[in-house]
Amino acid sequence: MKFTPAKPPLTGETLDSLTARLREAGEPVFRAKQILDWLYKKRVRSWDEMTNLSKPLRTWLADTFELMPAALVLNKQSDDVTDKLLLELGDQSLIETVIIRAPQDGVGIDHSRKTICISTQVGCAMGCVFCASGLAGLKRDLNAGEIVAQLLQVCYREDERTPRARMELASFDNIVVMGMGEPLANYDQLLRALTILNADWGLGFGARRITISTSGLVPKILKLADEELGFRLAISLHGATDEVREKIMPVNKAFPLAKLLPAVKAFSEKHGRMVTLEFILITDVNDSLEQARKLRDIALDLHAHVNLIPYNTVEGLPWKRPSITRQERFADILRAARISVTLRREKGHDIAAACGQLRLKTEKARELAAV
Ligand code: SAH
Ligand code: SF4
Repeated sequence: MKFTPAKPPLTGETLDSLTARLREAGEPVFRAKQILDWLYKKRVRSWDEMTNLSKPLRTWLADTFELMPAALVLNKQSDDVTDKLLLELGDQSLIETVIIRAPQDGVGIDHSRKTICISTQVGCAMGCVFCASGLAGLKRDLNAGEIVAQLLQVCYREDERTPRARMELASFDNIVVMGMGEPLANYDQLLRALTILNADWGLGFGARRITISTSGLVPKILKLADEELGFRLAISLHGATDEVREKIMPVNKAFPLAKLLPAVKAFSEKHGRMVTLEFILITDVNDSLEQARKLRDIALDLHAHVNLIPYNTVEGLPWKRPSITRQERFADILRAARISVTLRREKGHDIAAACGQLRLKTEKARELAAV
């Protein structure tokens, strides 16, 4: 289903596109930079606060654009580590954005830092059998403005917590595109959003601090490798052989390991940065020592970092995480080969645990309320 908002979001405009809109409307083009300053640097939340713009211009803006296309409906601070924002879009779709105030060493991030996990689609079409986000299939892609809006909502939240934050370009350190959806299946809107986040007239956020996680869309990985902005890449591997991967990730049929791994290699050679291999540990599915040895060989060949994630139970799904002893045994095989490996153990620290589940619960509650 495609969603066309009544008014396009201002958060989806680039400096160029906004300049063009102003020119068409007969407004001075230098206003574009001022408008974006109000949006991203001063972070005002209404048109009337844009006090250096004339009243007619403000009226034109209000008639033409939606200032913020994602409304905060729930903010749930579950523990010291994660802070989840449930956002509602113009068509009442719900998405989740998560602030993680904790280590995310899996993507090479400093321990005291703040990482923001963003969504790129409502639902997901990839059908990985273990995942909450894909359970109901894909509802729709997010547009660039809705992706950018998630970060602005995080800024609003941080501005409220620390009044000083508003002085900073962005009050967080890393962005991981690991929320709901397959980012590379919404490539153009994702790239437009990341360009806006990166631009000095936007949030000025460094591409090297943005990690995109994919289930393995090979042509898009190769395309991403050619982009000017050097984003980091994480691959959801979850199976070290086609046999195992295929059982849990349907994408492996179109892009088996013989296609995926060379694409990952090409990406990391081009960027000179380590790629992260994400590997969820699921009991009796992919947690054998044989899988560990195969994963070791792949990681050595790609010179990749491995992020082992004990599976987080999803209501209604039968999968379970292995015991800590079994997790450690698996990890030891990688450690023995001197691979850079992280094994996340604390529940709240898990991005996947954080993403997707709040939306699922709220949608279920809404359905019940509607009956
Ligand atoms: N679609 C992209 C990004 C979003 S999913 C991708 O698949 O990479 C982010 C990560 O969370 C992926 O590695 C995904 O496999 C993992 N994940 C999904 N459900 C999970 C669960 N229940 N427990 C642990 N990790 C999960
Ligand atoms: Fe989609 Fe990623 Fe979940 Fe697979 S793991 S269904 S690609 S969100």
